[in-house]
Amino acid sequence: MSDAKKLVTRRQFLQATIGAAASMAVCDACAGRQETPNFVIIYADDLGYNDLSCYGSDLINTPRIDRMAAEGIKFTDFYSAAAVCTPSRAALLTGCYPIRVNLPSVLGPFSPIGISDREVTLAELLKTRGYATACIGKWHLGDQKPFLPTRHGFDYYFGLPYSNDMPRPNWPVPLIRNEQIIEQPVVQETLTERYTSEAVRFINRNRNRPFFLYLAHTMPHVPLSVSEKFAGRSKRGLYGDVVECIDWSTGEILDTLTSLGLDKNTLVIFASDNGPWLSMRENGGSALPLRDGKGTTWEGGMRVPGIAWWPGRIPKGVVCREVVSTIDLYPTFAALAGARLPTDRIIDGKDVRPLLFGNRPAISPHKAFFYYWKDELQAVRSGKWKLVLEHKSRDGKKVIPQQLFNLETDIGETTDVSAQYPSVVRRLMAYVEEMREDLGDALVGKPGKNRRPCGRVSVQSQ
Ligand code: MG
Repeated sequence: MSDAKKLVTRRQFLQATIGAAASMAVCDACAGRQETPNFVIIYADDLGYNDLSCYGSDLINTPRIDRMAAEGIKFTDFYSAAAVCTPSRAALLTGCYPIRVNLPSVLGPFSPIGISDREVTLAELLKTRGYATACIGKWHLGDQKPFLPTRHGFDYYFGLPYSNDMPRPNWPVPLIRNEQIIEQPVVQETLTERYTSEAVRFINRNRNRPFFLYLAHTMPHVPLSVSEKFAGRSKRGLYGDVVECIDWSTGEILDTLTSLGLDKNTLVIFASDNGPWLSMRENGGSALPLRDGKGTTWEGGMRVPGIAWWPGRIPKGVVCREVVSTIDLYPTFAALAGARLPTDRIIDGKDVRPLLFGNRPAISPHKAFFYYWKDELQAVRSGKWKLVLEHKSRDGKKVIPQQLFNLETDIGETTDVSAQYPSVVRRLMAYVEEMREDLGDALVGKPGKNRRPCGRVSVQSQ
């Protein structure tokens, strides 16, 4: 080939490449994409794996959340990184196992501890990219002023500082706007509807700039309550009515995004903070076919509904069976927003963009996922295998022995197969030993090297 011909070829190649890049840019513009998408997290409280029709409930009707799943991705193996409220939220907003940020247990009113101001919350991370941020709903990372959402990256806060079942003598549960109590006791019947109008207002107000909305519903955590509009709707009593109200609310959020033309540029996540509170019986949810529920490291305690929606970006109707956790949202959102992750600390979550955007074959970036109860490492999962470590049941009455489960064939954790797969047990034990060094394990008296302190105030006030 002559030199002249080579040059032409190279020029043609460059033109083709630039042309392709330009047409991709045009395409992105057509699709209404910008570099910084909006983010919405809808976080239900104590909603079980089996409490939405798209996850198998035939008593609770959730057409809007089902449609969200049909238009996006439904995760079958989506985990909260904790089995109760406070640590679950700590994990979501820091991208870390709760024990790493030293918030492994539920906080009550007036607790002297809360989220550390040294943590970079997801809201603070997104603020580095100019996001407007709001936390609407339940916070539960400390009710003392230095711990409130407005001190941790949220421009706006409207909600309860902790669970709705935590009144104290002479101190009913308050509703807070920013840092002021505006109602006490909070009227719970209309709470989900009021959260929804606040959320819709926030989206409207920030339609022309990137925003992050964290809508953390107070319910279906007990005490359950709905307005007359939703009462008696479902076949599953008051619990079902409450979930159907959250379904309506989700529809309002999605409709608002669509009517403002923001749907093609907004990633919406729907999830639950932990499994259902089974001891509440008809006032609690269901995690079937998973074993047990809230407050345990059985699958029912931590595996929850998880749905991602972003029309035009996330392929429709995908069912993803890979392990994904709430801790992954932190690095994933950072990558999508072009925010730099803190480099001076460990972040446990992984960027799951390949799973979200349906690039095949995408597999979970977690070689192992860990199930902590407070500071006890009780189980580990790698692929289809889950190794439960010897520990005491929550009431302290029973010793649960070490067991291996194949979650692919035994989703209900019924049959220990450790004797058949000793090499799998050894492999998973190696992950356990690694984690015991890193974050510790009270079951074997290990303190862990890499925990960070939580926040602490010296004087508590109401
Ligand atoms: Mg909860």
